[in-house]
Amino acid sequence: MRILISADMEGATGVTGVDDVIAGTEPWRRFRELFTGDVNACVSGLFAAGATETLVNEAHSVQRHLLLERLDGRARMLTGRHKPLSMMEGVDSGVDGVVFLGYHTGAGAEGVLSHTYMESGLSGVWLDGIHASEGRLNAALATEHGVPVLLVTGDDLTCVEAGSYAPECRTVPVKECVSRYAAVCSTPERTSSAIRTTASDAMGLAGRGEGEVEPHRVELEFTGTHLAAAAALVPTVEQLSPRRVGFDAADMTTAMKTFKVITTVASKAAQDTYG
Ligand SMILES: [Zn+2]
Repeated sequence: MRILISADMEGATGVTGVDDVIAGTEPWRRFRELFTGDVNACVSGLFAAGATETLVNEAHSVQRHLLLERLDGRARMLTGRHKPLSMMEGVDSGVDGVVFLGYHTGAGAEGVLSHTYMESGLSGVWLDGIHASEGRLNAALATEHGVPVLLVTGDDLTCVEAGSYAPECRTVPVKECVSRYAAVCSTPERTSSAIRTTASDAMGLAGRGEGEVEPHRVELEFTGTHLAAAAALVPTVEQLSPRRVGFDAADMTTAMKTFKVITTVASKAAQDTYG
């Protein structure tokens, strides 16, 4: 059984602040170790229950945060930017399950460091009319490839939301959200133990099925009108109101590629301080 671990950092053990996830800062140096610890606990639990291969896809920001030298020797790591499927690169390589590790809630939602791909600038994303986090978008992509979501870790609200897009999946809340930048955190010792045990349990869900290719509609609402105007320059994207755009895609892979182009263009239109 081959398992993909899509590893994001905002939902890692102990992470609550902006500097915790910004490369080069003092807090980041500390939290990249805790992030690596969460991944190792997951790898250990998956192998204990029958995984034969794990690919860890670094999915946070510049995608260079995990410490390869500290990673469980049985894991392989995909690191660095410019991957066609981004956070989900590798889902089309014949894997039997995917783990969303260190995930967080979506733009405009309550939750620690909530956002959807853009750290700021988006106030909401909707997939087929449902408010969407990265987890919901990525789960739809997994469905397209017949890959089940086995396990989601993050704050408590991330875990609750996971139940709405992947009802079968196991969850490990590593912290309880108090605000976007505060949480009651469990220690690495406790979260590692919970992640390891639950990952083993989640292996019972592994096994690739038939993919389901369906058309999808995605809508995005920005915090500024100029961001929506920039996004609407992307072919197939329609401006629906001063701050909202939307588009239809024949399948989820195309939807995610279009989404990535939109967020790349809109990010370039954002200004320091005023957004
Ligand atoms: Zn993220």
